[in-house]
Amino acid sequence: MNDYNKPLPVKQPWSEEFWKGTKRRKLLIQHCNDCGKNIFYPRKYCPECWSSNLGWIESKGTGTLFSYTVTMYGVEEKFMADLPYVIALVDLGEGIRVMSRLVNCRHEDIKCDIPVKVVFEDMTDEFTIFYFEPA
Ligand SMILES: [Zn+2]
Repeated sequence: MNDYNKPLPVKQPWSEEFWKGTKRRKLLIQHCNDCGKNIFYPRKYCPECWSSNLGWIESKGTGTLFSYTVTMYGVEEKFMADLPYVIALVDLGEGIRVMSRLVNCRHEDIKCDIPVKVVFEDMTDEFTIFYFEPA
């Protein structure tokens, strides 16, 4: 964990709670208290109604694989050692689509619509990132 040398997220006031959540192994998603929409990624304003009256809910961390690509090349140099890896679009049960990596599976076993669940990996003492794996 201490030898992590890849780019780190830039914390914003409106994303700080999200990163606190991943640290505690919780996938938090924003919820608009005015129109009821769930929102990902964290933002200052609801993209549906522009309200700033936003709260947080904890995702169950389960969903289905909407689509994916196996990345073979053409990535930033610090990610080269991870190749090949899978970039996934996951539809969470809370009705939002999120992008992350799909891990802990053989690439040839991946199919759209398979059930997936969130997993967490500590990058640094401050940042924990979320991935998905087959459920
Ligand atoms: Zn809204």
